[in-house]
Amino acid sequence: MAAGILGDTDTVYPLSLRLAGRLAVVVGGGPVAVRRVAGLRTADADVLVVAPELSPSLADLAARGLISARQRSYQITDLEGAWLVLACTSRAEVNEAVAADADMMRLWCVRADDGGASAAWVPAVGRAGGATVAVNADRNPRRAAALRDACMAAVEAMPRDESAQDGAAGRPQAGGPGWVSIVGGGPGDPGLITVAGLERLRSADVVVTDRLAPLGLLAGLPPDVEVIDAAKVPAGPGMRQENINRLLVEHARAGRSVVRLKGGDPFVFGRGREEADACQAAGVPCDVVPGVTSAVSVPAAAGIPVTHRGLSQGFTVVTGHAGSDDARSTVDWAALAASRTTLVLLMAVEHAAGIAEALIAAGMPAETPAACVADGWSGQQRVVTAALADLAPAMKEADISNPAVLIIGETARYAERSNR
Ligand code: SAH
Repeated sequence: MAAGILGDTDTVYPLSLRLAGRLAVVVGGGPVAVRRVAGLRTADADVLVVAPELSPSLADLAARGLISARQRSYQITDLEGAWLVLACTSRAEVNEAVAADADMMRLWCVRADDGGASAAWVPAVGRAGGATVAVNADRNPRRAAALRDACMAAVEAMPRDESAQDGAAGRPQAGGPGWVSIVGGGPGDPGLITVAGLERLRSADVVVTDRLAPLGLLAGLPPDVEVIDAAKVPAGPGMRQENINRLLVEHARAGRSVVRLKGGDPFVFGRGREEADACQAAGVPCDVVPGVTSAVSVPAAAGIPVTHRGLSQGFTVVTGHAGSDDARSTVDWAALAASRTTLVLLMAVEHAAGIAEALIAAGMPAETPAACVADGWSGQQRVVTAALADLAPAMKEADISNPAVLIIGETARYAERSNR
């Protein structure tokens, strides 16, 4: 899909280029070149940058062999073998010379500095669900970007059935091969899912959710999307998890697009690997979209960095769900006490007192700063701070319940009610 909104040049000929493996030459090494190179790399083009000075990100790409670079002034021979030329130096006379050479060689050249003198333009581009929107607007890039955003909103809002009729959606049809995507939804705020995660959600026929998944996102789903609460899947003859695995596989086998929406990241205490294994064992196509884990983002919701220069050179994430004196716990609390890293404890509300005791017994100072952040990123977020020895009583007094993250270490000093 392409939308073209042309101003004084109604004769422009919109075209989408497949540049994979083809040489595109970028003359210039500044900020405009950085953006152009990024776009060309998305298109899989072979990129050659020619400039006496390269901005650090271009130098880095060249050092890693991801683009070629000639660090000197432009020469006409640089255009040999090119399919496309982008003149984006800050000097008009250089851009003009590049454009003239390209014209002579019958190469398409985009001039960044002078749209009027340019043989070709780069439109504002947006992509979603297999559709590409490209907008030119009167050589006004801001207007083009605004129109592109408006078009994208329309693409994203288009009812799924309509886009399926266009054949543009790339979604499996009922009866076709289904798939499962195990998506990390972040810590609860609908804004903290990834773009890839949101895209999967938008193309789902079935969404299997968890209690801690960002349920606010479900409100925006079309009414025909089936939402299944995993907590309500009966345990039946086997474990609940086995039945969830079976459910994912069965829906996918029936040709449906299945999103398994989880809180945080699927691979951090999320059983994501078990679900992916079940899909793979059943031959169901499956992918995993990482998420923003609560282990890092919930402390951040209270202004607490898990590392901080001069205070903490690392962090350790552990579950407290088995308790420090429980035979099922394989965590070496004494080693953690000596680790000098920030300790981030998940599922630890119930055993907070025992854990603090074990850490102190192992030599961690009782006055080590500590914090507890409950219901992070929600309107009910609560933050409790105390010295390590006093944390559990303070949590009790504040009537803290799950879900909550405990942070033990110097960076917990930064705790504030909210950083929002
Ligand atoms: N996969 C998830 C963690 C699942 S374990 C992730 O990466 O975030 C569940 C635990 O995560 C909870 O007991 C709690 O410790 C923590 N948690 C998840 N979301 C939370 C939130 N919004 N606020 C506080 N703690 C949260």
